This record gives sequence, C-alpha cells and structure tokens, in this order.
Amino acid sequence: MTKTYAEAWEGCLKIIKDNVSIQNYKTWFDPIRSIKLSKSVLTIQVPSQFFYEWLEEHYIDLLKKTIRKELGALGKLEYNIVIDNSMSKPYTVKIPTSARPSDNPVVPIPMDINNNIRNPFVIPGIKKIKIDSQLNPNYSFDNFIEGDCNRLARSAGFAVSNKPGGTAFNPLLIYGGVGLGKTHLGHAIGIKIKEEFPNKIVLYVSSEKFTQQFIDSVKNNKQNDFINFYQLIDVLIIDDVQFFAGKEGTQKVFFQIFNHLHQNGKQLILTSDRAPVEMQGMEQRLLSRFKWGLSADLQSPSLETRIAILEKKMHADGVELPKDVVEYIAYSITTNVRELEGALISLLAQGSLNKKEITLELAKQMIDKFVKNNAREVSIDYIQKVVCDYFKLPIELLKSKTRKREVVQARQIAMYFAKNLTKSSLANIGMHCGGKDHATVLHACKTVNNLIDTDKHFRKYIEDLGKLVSID
Ligand code: ADP
Ligand code: MG
Repeated sequence: MTKTYAEAWEGCLKIIKDNVSIQNYKTWFDPIRSIKLSKSVLTIQVPSQFFYEWLEEHYIDLLKKTIRKELGALGKLEYNIVIDNSMSKPYTVKIPTSARPSDNPVVPIPMDINNNIRNPFVIPGIKKIKIDSQLNPNYSFDNFIEGDCNRLARSAGFAVSNKPGGTAFNPLLIYGGVGLGKTHLGHAIGIKIKEEFPNKIVLYVSSEKFTQQFIDSVKNNKQNDFINFYQLIDVLIIDDVQFFAGKEGTQKVFFQIFNHLHQNGKQLILTSDRAPVEMQGMEQRLLSRFKWGLSADLQSPSLETRIAILEKKMHADGVELPKDVVEYIAYSITTNVRELEGALISLLAQGSLNKKEITLELAKQMIDKFVKNNAREVSIDYIQKVVCDYFKLPIELLKSKTRKREVVQARQIAMYFAKNLTKSSLANIGMHCGGKDHATVLHACKTVNNLIDTDKHFRKYIEDLGKLVSID
C-alpha cells in the first residue's frame, strides 16, 4: 500500500505531536504543508527561510527519526521555502536527513532569499540563526555598583541571569527615575545570560525600536514575520515600556508576544520610568501581567554609592582626582547617576583642556554651572558633612538615632540649614537625619531660631556654618 503525501505527513505529525509542546507544535508544525511524495522523499512547504533554519537547528533529529519511522530507512525530507508572497516561486533545498548533522552539506541559499530576511537583527547566514543581541559590553554587572538604592533590582537581575525563565521573577520589571541605571541593568542581565548560556537567544530592544519595527511590519504586510521573530527569543529585554502607553496596536502585539514567551518559559525583562500603577494609557491586561513577576525599583543612590560610582568610573578611565573633589561632586549631584558621570567627565575635560590642575575651587565653579537648575541648592548630605566637620563629629552619629546632647544640637543645626537651603520636605530632611519625623524637624528649626536670638556664641556658629555651606 502506498501512502499519499498527505497521509505520510499526517503520520509524521502524530509522532511530532507527542514529542514537542503544544505551543511549539502550533508555532513550528501547524504552518507546514506537505506537497509531494515521490519515492521516499517527502516535500514539505515552510513559510520562510527563517522557519527552515529554525527547524533545521532545533528539530532535525526529531524529523529524521520521524521520517524514518513513517517512510522507512530511505526516507528523506525536502523543504520548499516560500520566498515571498508577491513572487511566490518556491525554492527547494534538499536536506539529506539521513546524514549526520556534522556532515550536512552546506545548503546553497540564493541571494534573494538572504535579502529577503527582513528582520534587522538577523545576520543572514546559512545554517544557524544568529541574532545580534544588541548588548553594550560596558553595561555589565561588574561595572554596576551595588548599593541600598538598587539592591533588590540588582539581585533579582542576577538571579534571573542564572536561571532565565526559571525564577518567579518573570517578567522582571525594573523601574525608576531617569539616569538611575535601568538600561545599564537590563544590559547587564543580558550580558550575563549570554556568558552563562551562549546558546540562548537574547535580545535587547528599546520600546521605540520595537514600536517602529511593528509599524514597518504592518506597512509591509509582514506582521507575521515580526511576531514569529519575537516569539523565537529566549530572553527579551524591552527598555522603557512606558512608551507603549497610548499605542494600542503595539500593546496588542506585545501582549501576544508576551504571552507566547511567558507560556514557553522564556524570560522577559522590562524597564520603565514609573511603577506599573502609574502607567496611564496602558491596557489593564498588560499591566496585570507586569505584576505577575517582580517589580523592583531603583532609588537615588546614597552618598557612599555615589562616591563608589565615581571612583569606579575614574578607575575605568585611568584617572585620579583629589578626594575632596570627588566628594564635592558626590555631595552636589544627588539624584541622577548620568548627571554624576556627566559632571565628572566635564570636569576632567576642563582640567585637561585648560591644562589646569583640578582643584576643589575648579570643581565648585564647574559643578555650579553644571547643576544649572538647582545651582543655588546644596544637598542635605553636604550640609551634614559641613556641620559634622565643624563640630568634629563623625557623620554616622548625626545620621543615627542617638540622643547625646552634642549630637542632638548638631543634628538640629543640620535640619535648620536643610530646611532653609534645600527644597526637601520636612519628612525627607527628618529621614536623612536619624530617621526623625517632620514634627521633629519643625521643632529643631524653632529651637535653632530661638538660640540664634538668645545665645551669642550659638549665633556665631550659625554664621560661620552659613558661610561654609553656601556653595557660592
Ligand atoms: P536609565 O536607563 O535609568 O535612565 P542608565 O542605565 O542609562 O539610566 O544609567 C545612566 C548612567 O549611569 C549610565 O552610564 C550607567 O552606566 C550609570 N549608572 C547607573 N547606575 C549605576 C551603578 N549602580 N553603577 C555604575 N554605573 C551606574
Ligand atoms: Mg534608559
């Protein structure tokens, strides 16, 4: 009894179904059509070059076994690749499934097929799918300074890197303000995964690029290629997902890709400049999925972390600066690591351009210009440092809860200056000064004002300190 090609392929599909997950079956085998059976050679048609390469790479053994079971020891498979809908002249490649993968002949792929691969990340090649992960090697974990401000996000990222798709942190959503290291951390995770699992397909993409690619795919009627491509990724890192807000089409397609990847145990890493609850214009079903995994925030770095970041950066660039200069930069720029680095770079440039030694004086002039918006605002940290230096107290004491008399007074003075010279809220000032509440800060300001009015020596302290803390 001879089988028809349809029957033969039916038989194959039955075996395949038992050997792959439903999702993979749907993705990779459902779209295949059988078109010919001649002698023991079954010809199947696959939708794209990409598809063929994927089957070749991932299912060659299964296909080999299946064909032999179904058509006997001489059974062979031939692929028919649909080049393009508009010029549907199928191109046939013979795959000798009886050969060992290692001595597979190189399959000739005509140029137009390669050119046909529209996906910008696919480097046209003959056998393996190669995807440029778009990772920046400078943004590694090694270059990422750990601090209280980023501990949760960093360690979750680290855990994900060691077991992509295998932790509860899926998706991992990293959120936080501008310049706090979201992009850096996203890359670091990708880089580490590539180191640990070189075969995993990792892709970093900004949400803008993703959106643009999607729009292009719609224009060119290549939406399926777009979706298929993204569904192949093992680790998908999408930066700044808040840009999806208000873009319904993009959200819809992202939802589909998200579900596919998540169901297949693939890892998603997303970054955003705000927490999921604050993302307006984002579909509810997408937001609820963001919450499936872990949302970890990045806070502004503490003084110690800022100094450590500056030192790391100087070390990487092979430069050195006086300690007081580094501290001044770290004291002055408090909320944004990118600005912190920017200030350092400008200062180094200034120094080398003008062949000037980089002194605290130069740093002060520079930083004042650099921090334009709040040039007149000193930081709480800086005030605390100046006050502690003045009274010769360790800064840790001032930040602690201790009620020793001399510390209490220094702390009150620091609160007073913070209230008058910064835009910080009372609560924030209290938090920085021994974890006190806003009422304590108010009380401190009253006490200081009273003492200024009644105590000559005290007034002198405040005048001296006033000069020292001012950054003019
Ligand atoms: P975001 O994406 O949150 O706006 P980036 O990841 O682009 O911020 O970070 C801004 C700059 O600050 C980058 O040059 C990055 O390397 C640096 N940076 C941020 N956080 C750290 C950190 N913890 N350690 C070292 N460098 C950092
Ligand atoms: Mg970023």
